[in-house]
Amino acid sequence: MRKVAIYGKGGIGKSTTTQNTVAGLVEMGKKVMVVGCDPKADSTRLLLGGLAQRSVLDTLREEGEDVELSDIRSPGFCNSLCVESGGPEPGVGCAGRGIITSINMLEQLGAYDESEQLDYVFYDVLGDVVCGGFAMPIREGKAEEIYIVCSGEMMAMYAANNISKGILKFAKTGNVRLGGLICNSRKVDNEREMIEKFAEKLGTHMIHFVPRHNDVQRAEINRKTVIEWNKDCEQANEYRALANAIANNTKFVVPNPLSIQELEDLLMAYGLMN
Ligand code: ATP
Ligand code: MG
Repeated sequence: MRKVAIYGKGGIGKSTTTQNTVAGLVEMGKKVMVVGCDPKADSTRLLLGGLAQRSVLDTLREEGEDVELSDIRSPGFCNSLCVESGGPEPGVGCAGRGIITSINMLEQLGAYDESEQLDYVFYDVLGDVVCGGFAMPIREGKAEEIYIVCSGEMMAMYAANNISKGILKFAKTGNVRLGGLICNSRKVDNEREMIEKFAEKLGTHMIHFVPRHNDVQRAEINRKTVIEWNKDCEQANEYRALANAIANNTKFVVPNPLSIQELEDLLMAYGLMN
């Protein structure tokens, strides 16, 4: 089983990209479980056809320890398996701890057992590792293969660089590796070239360039992934290509984060070019 986590700046498109990519993987016959690690609990809504999944932490609070797998895990598009870890009560407790509680509960209930024959688990993780809590899936060895969603916008690259610092730190004691950057385009000038260069400097690769397209919103309004909403559209093929690239990926590295100066030089070289 491959243990994948998707990180990236807030709002960059982690949940959207995760679910659309997972749709591509399940369409090719892979068995995938998605575990949302965001108190918003919106990591599986497109796969489930709406915000339907009661979170693990809510279930634990309401039912005590007497929980069954079917209480916290629902089948979504093409037999994908959907879990939302949820969050602590606002203002109380650490969200990162909550994620580990949820994953431990899933382990206890056998969700990762060999008999489940999972090909992948995907964690959709909030935050950019500035808060230690959100590094928890990496720190605890729950996720080993990290993809960072970014764009050519400065803050998205800054966050990606920070996340790389987190991966570097935990790679020293564990198996976590960077699998690549997913460029989720914001239509910035020279974006593809800049992210390719950024990836090269980090020691990784840009695994796919996902164009910005309104079909993503159209599918979202219909509470579906793009592949389910319109399997023949171009954007559906983009997510299939990303799913394929992840399935065939063999480049897993300990990243070399850039200094702020290097990051700014990159932005100057590409961002200000005509
Ligand atoms: P958060 O950090 O709050 O969890 P996120 O990184 O998970 O955010 P999403 O919720 O996935 O971000 O995406 C934010 C919005 O961007 C969504 O409403 C989605 O429709 C839009 N979006 C994401 N990717 C694309 C794309 N390639 N083309 C068009 N719209 C996109
Ligand atoms: Mg999200």
